[in-house]
Amino acid sequence: APVLEITAMERHFDASGGGTVRAVDGVSITIGRGEVVGLVGESGSGKSTVGRCAVRLDEPTGGTVRINGTDITHLSRRAVRPLRKDFHLVFQDPSSSLDPRMTIGQIVAEPIKLHRQARGEDVRARVEQLLAQVGLRPEHADRHPHELSGGQRQRISIARALSCDPDLVVADEPTSALDVSVQASVLNLLADLQRDRGFGCLFITHDLAAVEFLADRIAVMYLGQIVEQAPTAELFASPKHPYTQALLSAAPVPDPVEQRSRERIVLHGDLPSPLDPPAGCRFHTRCPLATDRCRTEVPALRELPGGRQVSCHLVAEDGTAPDAAS
Ligand code: SF4
Ligand code: MG
Repeated sequence: APVLEITAMERHFDASGGGTVRAVDGVSITIGRGEVVGLVGESGSGKSTVGRCAVRLDEPTGGTVRINGTDITHLSRRAVRPLRKDFHLVFQDPSSSLDPRMTIGQIVAEPIKLHRQARGEDVRARVEQLLAQVGLRPEHADRHPHELSGGQRQRISIARALSCDPDLVVADEPTSALDVSVQASVLNLLADLQRDRGFGCLFITHDLAAVEFLADRIAVMYLGQIVEQAPTAELFASPKHPYTQALLSAAPVPDPVEQRSRERIVLHGDLPSPLDPPAGCRFHTRCPLATDRCRTEVPALRELPGGRQVSCHLVAEDGTAPDAAS
């Protein structure tokens, strides 16, 4: 079974002023053993909610979530607890997820003890081993989170996430709260650990350079839905959906040669509200290529050759797509 299988996930809730907020609206993502899938989109697109629902910190209101084949969609907190050794979430801001009263050693050891992965002296040895793996020293075990830098704290939350050797790690913007100077080292660490230990990973980010570096496959989210999904190299080489084209055109490309034909596509207007999202194609209010059909008819997420999925009326069956920049 895949390590993570999300099928038609919905996370709807009632808005205080009436109506339904469709934060996540029919998202399907499958992650195989050892595979890294990047989930990208603007802030407000629902990607963090997908991540929280995937590890059952939030409960989906529709669809299913399976981890290693086990349906956890509606399991109680209690029933899900023994399964938590298999999956873990690394948060955006490590400060909010690390208990300030605990020592680093206690924080890293907690899941190990909870899941009875080791006892007594073995716990300490395991903690020191984990600290070494994330580039910290044994002495760090006796410190408290506030005595460490932001980058070190994020290393701690990664050590904690890996303490029970999970099959799945969901990382939600794991570097965006860090100084730019340490972002690359934390990202490299995550990539190295992923390669060594082979956990599956849902990597949620708006950092396209990071996702290109880390992910095997990328899913692009817009307003609660996936609009395109493709292997990383293919997505960057030829984005099909106008929204993906716009997203990639705005990304800084370090290699000037690659800048070649990618003209910047400026999207007008803000991301619409997930409360009463636009009819037809949700992107039609900002799409440079929108036609009348787009305002009324919902484009299905279709399978294209090469393991790609895209939802746009203008993309042909063979994958031929118009260029939103021209
Ligand atoms: Fe643009 Fe229409 Fe395609 Fe939606 S379906 S992305 S509005 S062209
Ligand atoms: Mg977020």
